[in-house]
Amino acid sequence: MLGHHTSCFHLPLQRRNLKVILLNQLPSIGESQTLSPDNDGRNLPIVHRVFHKLVIRLNLEIGLSCRSLTGYCRDQHNFGSERNMDLGIRGKTAIVCASSKGLGRGCAEALAADGVSLVLSARSDGPLQETAAHIRKTYGVEVTAIACDITTEEGRAKVLAACPDPDILVNNAGGPPPGHWSDWDREDFIAALDANMLTPIALIKAVLPGMMARGWGRIVNITSQSVKAPIPILGLSNAARTGLTGYVAGTARQVAASGVTINNLLPGSHDTDRRRGLDTSIAQSSGQAVADVTKDVQSEIPARRYGTAEEFGATCAFMCSQHAGFMVGQNVLLDGGQVNSTL
Ligand code: NAP
Repeated sequence: MLGHHTSCFHLPLQRRNLKVILLNQLPSIGESQTLSPDNDGRNLPIVHRVFHKLVIRLNLEIGLSCRSLTGYCRDQHNFGSERNMDLGIRGKTAIVCASSKGLGRGCAEALAADGVSLVLSARSDGPLQETAAHIRKTYGVEVTAIACDITTEEGRAKVLAACPDPDILVNNAGGPPPGHWSDWDREDFIAALDANMLTPIALIKAVLPGMMARGWGRIVNITSQSVKAPIPILGLSNAARTGLTGYVAGTARQVAASGVTINNLLPGSHDTDRRRGLDTSIAQSSGQAVADVTKDVQSEIPARRYGTAEEFGATCAFMCSQHAGFMVGQNVLLDGGQVNSTL
């Protein structure tokens, strides 16, 4: 019997029962075995391959999402967790900015896994189209990919033209470059403010009236732990993100009664290109090897590791869910305990 391997995901009761019955036909898989089925399940043991095909067939017949097909082994055997919570956002539409890679992509995948259609953006078209294709194929949701610089008026206009009335907005953009407090002049601050404060504010202002009129909306801004505890080499980020945080604190409370929530999600150190770039930059200035810098940084994190984009995305998806309707103007820190504070 499957025991704790049984997963119900977020299916309505009838479908869920059907799936649980099917799952209970499977013998248990050893804990140490990692199963990430490829798209037709060829890499699974034979009994799981048969089951995989059966579920695909059933899903095609009864219209379940691709996530509930191909996710069943990954969720149970790579992460060993149960996913029973229905986030209540199936069929909604989200704009996820700066989402071909890293944390934005993590948020996009987590929302897609719960049946949310997406509008993605990034500057480089190639990786963006690859991400969009992967999400369509894996989760079976509609994905529109807009190659643009979200920090420009033109870029934002393109994204909003593709999706003028999103239910969910996840604001994100690349972070400002590191440096010393004496390095930056007016133009550097304006660029950081444009990217990490004024861009999210412009998008919030564009989508908020529609969300309020419809009586439901979720806005999550990806900011940084630097809002809670300044990071010395990221003075531009410290400054710009704090400005956004102040705007959100006031605005979220003015619109909460209309059913729209605005919150910030603060990454600590996550294993993405951005983090690898920062480690490289520290290594260059200190003369250490990059691997040693990473080891040092991780040793300062109570969890002793970097976070993953998947963990970040799952938290974001919860903040976008029906369950998070009473979360207003909050700064949710996801940092493995790195910021050393009681509150
Ligand atoms: P990442 O891995 O470098 O990914 C950045 C993503 O954003 C890519 O898809 C990139 O694609 C896109 N992007 C960057 N600038 C853009 C722009 N102007 N317009 C449209 N798309 C853009 O970065 P990440 O680690 O996910 O970081 C996301 C945000 O979280 C950043 O603001 C970062 O500073 C912040 N943050 C990250 C960490 C961490 O540890 N990872 C910690 C604290 C804060 P293109 O390059 O093709 O545009």
